[in-house]
Parts: sequence; structure tokens; C-alpha cells
Amino acid sequence: MQLTVLGSGTAVPHPKRASSAYWLQTSEATVLLDLSVFALGKLLAEGFEWHNLDAIWISHFHLDHIGGLPAFLFGTRHAEEMQGRKKPLQIFGGPGLKQLLKGFSGLSDYKLLDQPFPLDIVEVEPLEKFEIAPGIEAVALKTPHTEESLAVHLRDRDSSTLVYTSDTGFTETLAAFARRVDLLIIEASFPFDNPTENHLELAQAMYVIRKAEPTLAVLTHLYPYWDDIDFDSEVAKFAPQCEVVQAFDGLKLVLPSKTRN
Ligand SMILES: [Zn+2]
Ligand SMILES: [Zn+2]
Repeated sequence: MQLTVLGSGTAVPHPKRASSAYWLQTSEATVLLDLSVFALGKLLAEGFEWHNLDAIWISHFHLDHIGGLPAFLFGTRHAEEMQGRKKPLQIFGGPGLKQLLKGFSGLSDYKLLDQPFPLDIVEVEPLEKFEIAPGIEAVALKTPHTEESLAVHLRDRDSSTLVYTSDTGFTETLAAFARRVDLLIIEASFPFDNPTENHLELAQAMYVIRKAEPTLAVLTHLYPYWDDIDFDSEVAKFAPQCEVVQAFDGLKLVLPSKTRN
């Protein structure tokens, strides 16, 4: 399993951090976790085979997570690479996803759901297992952020595991959900002085990490407040028991193939 951070930022435009998107590649499939409009260019710059993409996970409907999807679907309608495609593209998300895409499509007769290949839009139920792409088992968890917001737990056929919290307020449940995963991608919107219950600050993210005991934790969804912060020394104050790294656009993480108990 290999993960590339395409966007480590937030809704606030930032010169170095696109808003949310992550490219996940396994031996069998590719999945995008969120798709912001700023991340679309990064996806192309990385040279990824976007036309072979198997699935897109939409964690919630804030535009820094879903804003690139209408543009992507508008593009795939016309892209030469997509005209011969037979395999379906599946888009997964919480309740209301179909309505949202249908509504957007209808705003100017964009025909986003009318593609040259089969397009499936799947609204998932929290805590019900589903196959997000060939060989990748997934489970979602409701998070305290928006009505439809979900974290997702993925396991590939090599038993590598990953949790992507996306945007979330603090909840102990998250630590249980991410228990001993190989890679925990967790939001840490603010270094301190969290102004909202709908996001995490560093201390809250570090609490979840300590409880979850992942092999590797990546802090992401970083507001510009982080720009002048010495990440390593702030993180060291919490004496983490695993490796904790700061996401940046272009960060690539390769998880070894293994079976964990
Ligand atoms: Zn966000
Ligand atoms: Zn959000």
C-alpha cells in the first residue's frame, strides 16, 4: 500500500498546501481519498494514472474535500482516455452524496452522472463493511464534524491498514476505530487554541494517537497557523510512542506488506 499526500491543507488557500486529497495505491487498485479542486493539478503533476482510478472516497461535503469532484467528472466525460473504459468508477460517501452530485449536475446541465463508463455512487452506512475497490475492505465511522462526515478504515489484501479521519471534532471512538493501524492520517487543524468543536488541535490529535497506537501517524489538514510552528518540538512535548510526521503535499508513504495481529 502506498499513499501520496496531494493536499495537506484546508479550505483556506495556501501557496504550499492544496486542500484535501490523497492517492492510495495497492497492488490491485487505486483510490482517491477526497478530491479538492486545488489537488487536481497535483494529481496530474504526479503522473498518476487517473484514468484507471477505481474509487473515490468523499469524507464529507465541505468544498475543500469534494470541490474537485464535479470538475473531475466534467473532465472524464470528455477525456479521450476514458472513452474506451469499461470498468466502473465508484464514488463512496455519506448520506446525501447522490442528491448533491445530481443537484450540482443540474445547475447547468453538466451531465456529470452521464459518463462514457459505468459510474456508481454509493452512500455507505457507518460500521458496515464494504469493498471500496478490488482487494480493499473498508469500514466507515461517523465523526463529529458535519451531518454526513465519516472517517474510514481500509485494509488491503496484504493486511496493511490505514485510517483516514478527515475533518473531525474530538471523540474517544476515533482511537478505538484506529486501534493499531499501520498508518493513521489524522487531522490536526490547529497547533493550539482550537476555536471549534468540529476540528482537532495538536493536543487532541496526540491524545487519539497515544490511545490508538498506530505504527505511523501523519498530521494533516493544517491551517496556516502551523506555518511558523516548529512541528517536531511541539510534537515532542507529547512524548509520542510512535513516529509522528507532518504532512506536506507530495509526501509519499509506503506501507510494508505484512499481517499484523
Ligand atoms: Zn476540511
Ligand atoms: Zn470539513
